[in-house]
Amino acid sequence: MPEAFDRVEGLGGLMFQALIKFLFKPDTRTALTKWFMKKQCCPDCMSTEFYEGPTGGCAVNVKCADCGSTFNLALPMFAERI
Ligand SMILES: [Zn+2]
Repeated sequence: MPEAFDRVEGLGGLMFQALIKFLFKPDTRTALTKWFMKKQCCPDCMSTEFYEGPTGGCAVNVKCADCGSTFNLALPMFAERI
């Protein structure tokens, strides 16, 4: 049984996770913009803690304090992954 479990958790598990990520996580600019406008938290781990980085014009680079995901935010116009 543990052997079968390992197999599922191996390559198949990784591919499954990638598929889930692809299907359900907001990755397009439009989806991310909507996400941040509505939830104001990290789409990867739901954290609301962000470190602010360099700013340019009305955009600001932020890094999630928990999972380290980085985003370029210029709300309400757009949000995108860096
Ligand atoms: Zn995060």
